[in-house]
Amino acid sequence: MYENINSNYINYLKTKNILIVGVTLRSGVSVSNTLYKLNVPHSLTDSKEYKSLATEREALLNKNAIFHTGHQSSEILDEIDLIILSPGVPLKSNLMKEAINKEIEIISEIEFAYNIRPKINYIAITGTDGKTTTATLTHKIISASKKARLLGNVGNTFSKDVLFIDENETVILELSSFQLETIDKFKPNISVLLNIADDHLDRYSDINEYFDAKKNIYKNQKSDDKLILNMDNEYTASLIENVNNASILTYSTKNKNATIYLDDDDNIYYYGELLFSIKERVIIGSHNRENILVSTLIALKENIETNIIKHQVNAFKGLPHRMEIVRSINGVTFINDSKATSLSSVLASIKSFNKNIILIMGGQNKGIDFRPILDDIKNKVKVLILIGEARHELEKMLPYEKSKIIENFDEAFNYAYSLSEEGDTVLLSPGCTSFDSFKNYEERGNYFKSLVNSLKN
Ligand code: ADP
Repeated sequence: MYENINSNYINYLKTKNILIVGVTLRSGVSVSNTLYKLNVPHSLTDSKEYKSLATEREALLNKNAIFHTGHQSSEILDEIDLIILSPGVPLKSNLMKEAINKEIEIISEIEFAYNIRPKINYIAITGTDGKTTTATLTHKIISASKKARLLGNVGNTFSKDVLFIDENETVILELSSFQLETIDKFKPNISVLLNIADDHLDRYSDINEYFDAKKNIYKNQKSDDKLILNMDNEYTASLIENVNNASILTYSTKNKNATIYLDDDDNIYYYGELLFSIKERVIIGSHNRENILVSTLIALKENIETNIIKHQVNAFKGLPHRMEIVRSINGVTFINDSKATSLSSVLASIKSFNKNIILIMGGQNKGIDFRPILDDIKNKVKVLILIGEARHELEKMLPYEKSKIIENFDEAFNYAYSLSEEGDTVLLSPGCTSFDSFKNYEERGNYFKSLVNSLKN
């Protein structure tokens, strides 16, 4: 009924007792729906109570879904021999530790979808910062010239779309470390490791464990597949000499020897030859110069014409909540960078301005040590406003005489506005998650924008 699917894999799935762990709309529900369409029996489990999964259950109504919800005793695993794991569930959770003990096969939603359609042209992008921006720009450029689809963390879930992808379509996948933890055969034609910095240290014991999860993106690649690495990040650069299974391509804003290089005057060079200038670009932020470079390299390797790439790159407006210019009032510019929840993304925003930043940071800390950016803050930030649950913790890590603790978001905003003068930038770049006060970073960013937009000239 569905074309070009790997029927051997579907037959294999039919021999297994399958349990989906993590009933989320994006992952678990998508997997369940796809299994239902393929006539593969399975059950689902979540530690949430049955009644709080109403929306998810609704999405699976009349599809024979069997749920185990609430307390997860190890009996749930009796007879199970394949787990499809949602990215939100850590391998270190009790149920998964038990599953590992029992040597049950565990795969991610990405691995599951890939095995259904292993022959598609896949471009997979991971890294600590810039995944969504780079994946979106790459999709814009490629789809201007041929059929392409954006899946994974951004756009539709891979498992949701997997049965409907055309054989000649290029799929751009944004992947998080969580999705890469349980990779077995997944093999993209082009994989990209943008950068590695401290992040998610509430889930990983150290940065190396986190880096190891990310490395799975290229583990199955062969010499005719491409691995794109950032030369300017010490972690990704360390792989250049050490990965032998894939063909390595590099990008840099510092090193002319990279496959693709961007100089200080915004000229891009490809194998040493001038390609085009990105002076006319719309997007702000020095880190976005790197993201542009990667997307350009991917597009060149996908044989997209240079003038199409140049046009798409310079026209790209960026995405909401990532260095988004909200408005300028009386010479004060308001920037919504609510998506900045890592040390490196806050640093990237600070570095994008010359001086006179009024910085709003805080929320719920993911276990990040912010001390390394203290000097940059002192150089560029005229007032540091610390908010939310992590405010006192941040104050200890960032001792600065020009900081001010304000618990409440509205008061923090009003304080920032009251101090601002012509030429200043009021920057929301929290470095923390929003879960202490908001549903997610989008809600926090939208709230910030509503406060900015309610200001009178
Ligand atoms: P991700 O999907 O990896 O979280 P996004 O593109 O959504 O990345 O951007 C998240 C945050 O990181 C934003 O604050 C953005 O400004 C910042 N950022 C984007 N690209 C980079 C980069 N290459 N290096 C550092 N920070 C970046």
